[in-house]
Amino acid sequence: MPRKARKRPTAVKQEVENIYCVNCGAIIDEYSGVLASPDWYADTRFVHYCRACQQRQFEDFAETMGPAMAFILCCASYNLPFIPEAVPRTAYEDESREMNWLAYLQNLEITDYRYRRDGEPASFVEGITDLSVIFGDNFQKDTRFATGIAMDKAASRAPGTRAQRKNWGTQDKWTDEDYKELDRIYAIISSERAKAGMDEQTEFTLREICKLQLAYDRARAAGKYDVAKKIYDITSKMMENNSMRKKDENSQTEAPKLDNFIAKFEKAGYVQNGKILPYDVLLRKLRGDHAKYPMSHDYLDFIIREILNCMRENMGMGKTSVLPAGFQMKPKCGEFEPTMSAAEKKTTRDLKLPPMQYEPKPPRGTKQSKGD
Ligand SMILES: [Zn+2]
Repeated sequence: MPRKARKRPTAVKQEVENIYCVNCGAIIDEYSGVLASPDWYADTRFVHYCRACQQRQFEDFAETMGPAMAFILCCASYNLPFIPEAVPRTAYEDESREMNWLAYLQNLEITDYRYRRDGEPASFVEGITDLSVIFGDNFQKDTRFATGIAMDKAASRAPGTRAQRKNWGTQDKWTDEDYKELDRIYAIISSERAKAGMDEQTEFTLREICKLQLAYDRARAAGKYDVAKKIYDITSKMMENNSMRKKDENSQTEAPKLDNFIAKFEKAGYVQNGKILPYDVLLRKLRGDHAKYPMSHDYLDFIIREILNCMRENMGMGKTSVLPAGFQMKPKCGEFEPTMSAAEKKTTRDLKLPPMQYEPKPPRGTKQSKGD
């Protein structure tokens, strides 16, 4: 679709000095706010909520009426066009809800429907407003409210409080009593952890365990002991995986004890009969405590030479079979094997590495060359 040349409106005909978000009071400008249609935003020219508050209201709508409805409600509320192409692909995913409205605004900006031909922002009526188009045949313009709906009936249909449904979900068709029981179990098993602070993952796991616990209680009460046993095993496994059992907890939080250090030192020979060795003896021992690598020193030279050759090639220089003096290291503490093993020799042969040549070391006191 060819892009129409679009004239950006001069942001605000300074009739109103400053515009503030009617929810949080933040100053609204082209960055914090959203430019809106002159219809219904004639003088202020910006949506009455800042972007952040719009996003929060979107989440609120999405939670109560579902994400699809939330897009339409927000478009109508802020007098922006509802353009299906601008709805983010993650529209129905709960996790991305925190970004969805902002994503919609961003997408809308790059469609051809954000501005009218005269350069003014398009309004709600310029987007799709026919609900039968948006929602398919289920919804017609003359669709009426269901018969007999009333506030008290609507409220009594959903068990639990809104917070309970949010915390526990509604999948298992819990009753008011079940929700209360879940809250009670949660209070018990989370009390210890809540003191130390809990991350979202832990809270999630605890809630899952509460649900299992409720299912376990139900099964046991109904005499279904085999089912109860299965649930018990799942719960147990889940707690184990999340290190939530009492014994896991202990091993995890066990403070390092001095005994443990002493035992380790004793094993390493730094401590004898519970006493640390005398200073000079200990020092000698510590100095002699070197790692031993299962590799010969000659083989190390081959490795270093190959690394240098790789660098040389990258710089457009040819390979060399000479190991520069600056890269010839003397073994100090017997870290390496004295002779090349058969496997090492085979590797150098297989790689067709030329025999090692060493650059003569310059006499002491002169500068050593580093790789040329
Ligand atoms: Zn705000």
